[in-house]
Amino acid sequence: MGEFTGKAIVSGIAIGKLMYYSKDAQQVKRYKISDIDAEKARYEEAKNTAIEQLNQIYEKALKEVGEVNASIFEVHAMMLEDEDYNDSINNIIESQLVNAEYAVACTGDNFSKMFSEMEDDYFRARAADIKDISERVIYVLKGSGSTSGPNEPVILIAEDLAPSETVQMDKDNLLSFVTRLGSSNSHTAILARNMDIPAIIGIDIKEEWDGLNAIVDGYNGKLIVDPDEETLNAYIEKQKKDTEAKELLKQFKDKEDVTLDGKHIKLYCNIGSVSDTAAVLKSNAQGIGLFRSEFLYLESSDYPSEEVQFQAYKTVAENMAGRKVIIRTLDIGADKQADYFELGKEDNPALGYRAIRICLDRPEVFKTQLRALFRASAFGNIAIMYPMIISVDEVLKIKAIVKEVTDELKEKGIPFKEDIEQGIMIETPAAAIISDELAKEVDFFSIGTNDLTQYTLAIDRQNAKLESICDTHHPAVLKLIEMVVKNAHKEGIWAGICGELGADLTLTERFLKMGVDELSVSASKVLAVRKKIRETKAN
Ligand code: PEP
Ligand code: MG
Repeated sequence: MGEFTGKAIVSGIAIGKLMYYSKDAQQVKRYKISDIDAEKARYEEAKNTAIEQLNQIYEKALKEVGEVNASIFEVHAMMLEDEDYNDSINNIIESQLVNAEYAVACTGDNFSKMFSEMEDDYFRARAADIKDISERVIYVLKGSGSTSGPNEPVILIAEDLAPSETVQMDKDNLLSFVTRLGSSNSHTAILARNMDIPAIIGIDIKEEWDGLNAIVDGYNGKLIVDPDEETLNAYIEKQKKDTEAKELLKQFKDKEDVTLDGKHIKLYCNIGSVSDTAAVLKSNAQGIGLFRSEFLYLESSDYPSEEVQFQAYKTVAENMAGRKVIIRTLDIGADKQADYFELGKEDNPALGYRAIRICLDRPEVFKTQLRALFRASAFGNIAIMYPMIISVDEVLKIKAIVKEVTDELKEKGIPFKEDIEQGIMIETPAAAIISDELAKEVDFFSIGTNDLTQYTLAIDRQNAKLESICDTHHPAVLKLIEMVVKNAHKEGIWAGICGELGADLTLTERFLKMGVDELSVSASKVLAVRKKIRETKAN
């Protein structure tokens, strides 16, 4: 047994097998096979396992989020039975004498491309589904065959994890993350919070731990490798208590988000993908306060088309059935890199070419997203939010581009919501300081405390070495938040917090007394924040 201490960044207990994640092992490799029938049988078996998994997920989702939202898994299971899809895979195995993973990846790419080029909206939307089902089969194949992908729940250990890697993982099989690098406000930590799995950073992980049993204590930042029976039993007990505490919080599911003295607070959720909506519905949040749309770009190997984006935004809006869905436009750059953007290397990427700066510089990319957003606004209660603002001039430029897009939609007779709410993120000290002027131009403010803290304190949020000096409760940050809320209210608009600080229960009372109108947190935090709001006075 070995005990290692790092820094806990998401609380909770996980018990399971360790899996060492190496970037190389994740690519689908092409290799020659000699036994065609055996390879076809491997595919058949993996496909059946994938169908079984989908049926189980469908049953679970049916209970948790209802038939409409669960039906996608039933559709996916049916798609795996499609004759053309199966013929193509078997044909590639047979004609090229290659492994099943490669045949599935090729077919997935070909079919997905074919669907995305179709005229009909419905078929175009199936492109993402084809990719999804193919990835599931490859995942199962890797677990059963020669490569190292898991097909059982694991604790993932890695040197570091980029957001683009994290979003592509099969979330159902992840019990926890443990990395050597990383920081509490990194996007990978945020993803772990969205998934509600414990996570630790700062552990000098070893490849030879792969396959060993382990415990992650996300309260004390401990990783216990190969635990003895006594320790294991103690943690099984702790985990049980954890589950009981979570069960207790469920009594707040249908309660209102109202303070002791009667102020209603908008308690919303942060999401990174369409599938996160299930957790939002489960926690019964009033809406989505931040949909990090860039994750759609990170999941993709090329610019997601207007159609693919439209379907994603529309699906979220429909799933939320009239509740508010605030979608943030592309915040790519800095730690969130997608090769096809060809952003180039920068000395200080967090201070560099990112987010709205890219969108204003590459209006064709921005307009594609805006068209998808405005079109989707006809299907639910969508609001749009712009990231990394530093000036009024940027807001005016955004408005001009939005006008071009909406004029074009009107001309073509394409429906959209005319009075769509448009707000900005306040996540730079510049925006906070001129929030009095910015408030005149927009419908709401959402304070991004992750970046606001990074830029105010001049502490790179990605730098593990600075974790210990990063005071997230620094008075400078809190003063800026207070100022932003006051300036918003002076102009009659609302102000919320969508950075990680919004879920910090030790600050809830201060935020409510400052007049913060909205808190947008990961779905796993909703019930705890709701409980806190109900126990607190706003005045
Ligand atoms: C923030 O900066 O606080 C924020 C919510 O945006 P992100 O974490 O995606 O940069
Ligand atoms: Mg930010």
